[in-house]
Amino acid sequence: SGAGSEPVIPFNQPGCRTRVYAVASGKGGVGKSSMTVNLAAALAKRGLSVGVADADIYGHSVPRMLGSEEVPTQVEDMIMPPQAHGVKVISIGMFTRGNAAVVWRGPMLHRALQQFLADVYWGELDVLLLDLPPGTGDIAISVAQLLPGAELLVVTTPQQAAAEVAERAGAIATQTHQRLAGVVENMSWMTMPDGTRTEPFGAGGGQQVSDALTRDLGANVPLLGQVPLDPTLREASDNGEPIVLSNPESEVAKAIDAVAEKL
Ligand code: ADP
Repeated sequence: SGAGSEPVIPFNQPGCRTRVYAVASGKGGVGKSSMTVNLAAALAKRGLSVGVADADIYGHSVPRMLGSEEVPTQVEDMIMPPQAHGVKVISIGMFTRGNAAVVWRGPMLHRALQQFLADVYWGELDVLLLDLPPGTGDIAISVAQLLPGAELLVVTTPQQAAAEVAERAGAIATQTHQRLAGVVENMSWMTMPDGTRTEPFGAGGGQQVSDALTRDLGANVPLLGQVPLDPTLREASDNGEPIVLSNPESEVAKAIDAVAEKL
């Protein structure tokens, strides 16, 4: 490659069969990273070759959720991603010291994402999941430029206010001409000890985002699933083991697995 040429991104090469999903949300704390990690683990469990690129500069919680404390090694010009639970993982947090808050400007983020895609030795992946920062920032444009074939996956809670911002995050796909794979509603209900359900964040947000985006895009954007709120999901994440692996028979794991099935 000559000087000044763009780095080669394997996922854009003809014949590449990797499906790339960019996981987006309107705001933080809705469980975007949790869904990314559990979907990755669920897909890897099915025997697929899976990678996760954590581009959530504010959260970068993916390695911890996968229990990965390894740092990437370098072989010649390539960065080798650590593996955890059968998932190859690379995170922006692996390149920042400690927990130092980094002020990221758009171009830096674009460059970091480009490096994740071009300089990491992913091998032949079936699925690559990109955990994006929340919101509708520059990164969505970068993803569209760097990975025109990527599909957007929108995570929201049932709450009205959350759904409205999630809708905006998804609507960017109309400008960037990207496909929307669908919507995942997280924290949809909580099952109480007596078996009844309660809805701490209300109801309807996921369907609302699905309907609005279907209208905006003029193409079906399905609600892929509803995932309950379950404290054991958080505990499992804190222990570095996705709930789909540590307790696959739980209601929450089954709900996530049903979404993975549709990807
Ligand atoms: P985001 O990536 O959208 O900022 P996270 O995935 O980091 O959100 O989730 C925020 C917090 O909520 C974490 O502590 C996570 O463990 C917890 N969490 C996410 N989804 C669920 C769920 N379905 N049930 C229980 N806790 C959840």
